[in-house]
Amino acid sequence: MTDYDIVVIGGGIGGTAIGALLASNQLKTLLVEKNKFIGGRCSTYEKEGFKVDLGVHSFARCQHGPLGEVLNKIGMQNTIDWSIIGSDEARWHLESKLYQFPEDFRKLLPKEDFLGLLKLISETSKIKNTNELDTINVKSWLNQYTTNTLIHSYFYIICGLYFVIPYHAVSTGEFIRCLTTLNKHQSVGYPKGGCISIPSAYADGIRKHGGSVKTGTTVEEIVIENDEVKGVKLDSGEFFTSNIVISNAGIKETVNTLIGRKYFDKSFLKEIDNLKYSVSALTIKIALKKPLSPYKIVVSFTSEDPEKKFKSILKGKVPDEIDYFIPIPSNYHSSMAPEGCQLMTAGTFVPKEIFEKNKEKWIENSMNTLEKVFPGLSNNLLWCDITTPHDIETMWGKEGSVIGISQTTEQAGINRPSISLPIEGLYMVGGDAGGWGIGTELAAQSALECSEIILKKIKEITM
Ligand SMILES: Cc1cc2nc3c(=O)[nH]c(=O)nc-3n(C[C@H](O)[C@H](O)[C@H](O)COP(=O)(O)OP(=O)(O)OC[C@H]3O[C@@H](n4cnc5c(N)ncnc54)[C@H](O)[C@@H]3O)c2cc1C
Repeated sequence: MTDYDIVVIGGGIGGTAIGALLASNQLKTLLVEKNKFIGGRCSTYEKEGFKVDLGVHSFARCQHGPLGEVLNKIGMQNTIDWSIIGSDEARWHLESKLYQFPEDFRKLLPKEDFLGLLKLISETSKIKNTNELDTINVKSWLNQYTTNTLIHSYFYIICGLYFVIPYHAVSTGEFIRCLTTLNKHQSVGYPKGGCISIPSAYADGIRKHGGSVKTGTTVEEIVIENDEVKGVKLDSGEFFTSNIVISNAGIKETVNTLIGRKYFDKSFLKEIDNLKYSVSALTIKIALKKPLSPYKIVVSFTSEDPEKKFKSILKGKVPDEIDYFIPIPSNYHSSMAPEGCQLMTAGTFVPKEIFEKNKEKWIENSMNTLEKVFPGLSNNLLWCDITTPHDIETMWGKEGSVIGISQTTEQAGINRPSISLPIEGLYMVGGDAGGWGIGTELAAQSALECSEIILKKIKEITM
């Protein structure tokens, strides 16, 4: 007899989801999270009556995608109150004007580029096997339809929002899977109570089905004997036995630190060493005395050759006007801010080392950009909190990545790192293995796939 059937390391979206899915299948489950709070990158804190996400979130497909499917499977459907964005509730800020894209492209583009865009939309909707496009990058694919800089800038921004890497690295197959499913369901939204509501619901699911959730405790080692998982050692000194351990702690961290390289062969270690994380982010949470915008999301961007723009950032240039994704949580749910106030959250993707070299300038140019998008912002500011790439790395590891192992042409779809690791009883879950989708969707989809693999294995053994 082991102490637990399942031990899950890490309480992010992937960890809490797999814990709930397996606990609901009568498996005795323990989840261990090193921070005092669960949720990982998807966590919320409270400050002066505002409920603030540590990251910056809006959610794709909500109850219609994997985030909702996990709740359905654990018998907790309708637990989350989603506010869905309406067709008139988002705006794109470009050169000091607000637009509704893609509709407004008709006004802004030369006819032949607009026709190229329409052709792209029509052909994309007919693609049956997106895997065939997994190894082609979005920039090359887009060039087949148009080279117009505004359209390229728009796709660069969408890729940044979905995958937090530049579009010339993003897998077209992954991009089309995300774009078409999102268009089909038209359901970008945000949960009442902040992003933490999602992992909290999953953690409640673990408890409801008899499992345990331990926070403020770090797993220091995954114990292996004769190439099989035996259990986990915690920083509290406790040792729990289990024949199945699922790590949400990041694939590199799991292999290199929690297990140790000596347990793996050279070719596997080379694959792990070659994996690349998504880029990190600078986020600014802005508490305002009064509402300055009626929209649920504003995206601010500039129209210039996007690959050149990204390369100049890598060389150390801080753009005068910085691209920003700005969800406004209190316009989704008024309870996210005290009455009469507004909460804005703004995020831009920036590599950790690049930000560290020029922190003050990144923050100064960010505040100037946000003032331009929302005139009067500084005069109405109650306070603002900044989360840097370094903060993201300190809180949740994975080199400060926003997503996990990035959805590039080498690492998406058929090339995604496997959920099963080459040690009996050892699995990965979350943004580092399996799955597809946008941010939290990827992590929840990974949990759905992971639960299928494990339940099938258990069934084979017990038959
Ligand atoms: C700034 C920002 C903006 C984002 N915007 C969006 C968005 O708009 N939409 C969207 O869908 N997604 C967005 N995301 C991405 C999304 O939050 C992540 O993709 C998702 O939450 C990752 O889930 P995960 O399962 O991979 O786990 P993670 O969140 O990586 O959690 C892993 C957990 O494991 C714990 N852990 C690590 N090591 C140990 C150990 N040894 N012992 C115990 N516990 C351990 C960590 O503390 C952490 O809680 C954003 C993220 C950030 C940071």
